[in-house]
Amino acid sequence: MTSLMSVDPSVIAPGATIGIIGGGQLGRMTAMAAARLGYRSHIFCPDNDCPASQVATATIAAYEDYEALARFADRVDVVTFEFENIPAESVRVLSQHVAVRPGWHVLETAQDRLLEKSFFNSIDVGTAAWSPVLNLTGLKGAVAAHGRPAVLKTARFGYDGKGQVKIDATTSLDEAWAEMNGAPAILERFVDFERELSIIVARGLDGTAVCFDVVENRHRHHILDQTLAPAVMTPASRQQAEKIALLAAETLGLVGLLAVELFETRDGQLLVNEMAPRPHNSGHWTLDACATNQFEQLVRAICGLPLGSTQRHSDAVMTNLIGDDINQWMHFLGQADACLHLYGKTEARPGRKMGHVTQLITRKLTENEEN
Ligand code: AMP
Repeated sequence: MTSLMSVDPSVIAPGATIGIIGGGQLGRMTAMAAARLGYRSHIFCPDNDCPASQVATATIAAYEDYEALARFADRVDVVTFEFENIPAESVRVLSQHVAVRPGWHVLETAQDRLLEKSFFNSIDVGTAAWSPVLNLTGLKGAVAAHGRPAVLKTARFGYDGKGQVKIDATTSLDEAWAEMNGAPAILERFVDFERELSIIVARGLDGTAVCFDVVENRHRHHILDQTLAPAVMTPASRQQAEKIALLAAETLGLVGLLAVELFETRDGQLLVNEMAPRPHNSGHWTLDACATNQFEQLVRAICGLPLGSTQRHSDAVMTNLIGDDINQWMHFLGQADACLHLYGKTEARPGRKMGHVTQLITRKLTENEEN
């Protein structure tokens, strides 16, 4: 593995190889950002022809294949991951061979809603009121404590609304519990939120941390539809979101990215819904509207480079192209200020994220700036 010289031994210089666990679009865009800075990327994922393996070297093997993981570790200089639903044990084994950033304990916390919510509450950050639920009796007790409406979620392996049941006035608790298939779960009080926000913080090897702008997220069928950047909000509320993200990243000792999803309640309170220690769909707008995008920021953080400026040079609206939306790709190519990103997926299944388009809302220079 040959890389550029660096006087600082903690720096993994351009020319080195970044290992990425997971082969989806987040891995693809990380590999593309890494390539721009002169790094190579090596993907580890179980599926042939995944979006990331089209732009990087790939090991195709199961996440539980420890021999393949060890061989992969020998071929890379640092490892990161692009989604959470990988066995934390595999990441722990990997960390015995090579630096894994963020570390496996961060992944473990983010994978489990019980650990995640306990973590935020332990640093005095508000969440929806919640209780762990391990069986039907526990569910009945939790619903009695928190009232209806509420949301029952599997503690692990849920995303985009999967593994969730809303408990309304008439929902049968027996049926709701049956949907969990016996898996440990969490009951959350339903938050009557005004809107959903998110913030991404990057934290470097030296502990320096910077936030991207807070954004507003709109969902369709539980899947992110649009991100509006920046979210229109009061300076106090923005500072509060930044404080939450910075405190979480610092307490976790995170090196890399942390996306924090928030509910803004009708009385202006911010409650954490969940976190993701990786690039996040609500940060895709940064590819086209910021000096440094989230993927490059991840590469900088895990390689020990100085973090880049997160300054936004344009406002932006990012729209996901889900399922058949992809058929409009030609239309977006013809739109001024539209930046089209396609993920190389050939089959457009319903609910599948096929690409996204970011509409830039450019700001005119003021007279002062022009002169
Ligand atoms: P999650 O998988 O936890 O991110 O939940 C997916 C979506 O379900 C969120 O983006 C919200 O729109 C909604 N949701 C989740 N939890 C709650 C809650 N406690 N109250 C209200 N809506 C929720």
